[in-house]
Amino acid sequence: MLRLENIHTYYGPAEALKGISLEINKGEIVSLIGSNGAGKSTCLMTISGILKPSEGRITLRGAGISGLPPHEIVRSGISQAPEGRRIFPRLTVFENLEMGGFLGRGNFGEILERVYGIFPVLKERTSQMAGTLSGGEQQMLAIGRSLMSAPDILLLDEPSLGLAPIMVSKIFRTIHEINAGGVTVLLVEQNAKAALRLSHRGYVIENGAITLQGSSEDLLNNEKVRTAYLGE
Ligand code: ATP
Repeated sequence: MLRLENIHTYYGPAEALKGISLEINKGEIVSLIGSNGAGKSTCLMTISGILKPSEGRITLRGAGISGLPPHEIVRSGISQAPEGRRIFPRLTVFENLEMGGFLGRGNFGEILERVYGIFPVLKERTSQMAGTLSGGEQQMLAIGRSLMSAPDILLLDEPSLGLAPIMVSKIFRTIHEINAGGVTVLLVEQNAKAALRLSHRGYVIENGAITLQGSSEDLLNNEKVRTAYLGE
């Protein structure tokens, strides 16, 4: 469904992605794991059009999307919940969700009810300023906002970052539920064990390059992954 072929992305002279190739099939949850600075966020931002690759090709259902501006990429069906949530703290929960629905894929009211169904707490707090939500609720809002464009593919950047363990399990259960509802997911996580347990397949990224890939089960049993990323 989504394919990256030999993607190179730079920040000025610094090459952050050094020829990344990966593929995500419809209906999958795919994890991208790696240590700090490996290039995970850069990879997501390159897919969502925030960063432009200097070389390589990104295709969605066979059509080239690299080089399109971010709003066109959202319109084509890819939506990102960024690292650090980036919600609008001085807008209400509803207004934040409205911003996510701005590009208008599908019926706003229907999608809003679907998002409220996944995150009932957002419905309860619809008129509350987003900045007053707890960390976990803000993460739900960030995910909810990205679902408002009714994406076919959801890119999640560190959804469990900084959350209490109970909230982490809740967020992971919700990702499972969103995927079961038909959304394909690319998940970037430091919490490699939880991410791999949830996903179908995974890729390991090191220093801007993919060094391992496989089914999540194989990666969970891989000696190198166990010592480097699972803390075993
Ligand atoms: P983290 O988990 O810390 O976010 P990551 O795997 O997502 O790590 P990236 O944020 O993609 O890593 O960073 C990849 C490389 O690009 C790192 O070497 C980082 O220092 C560099 N980098 C990231 N953002 C910028 C930027 N705005 N300007 C220059 N270099 C950057």
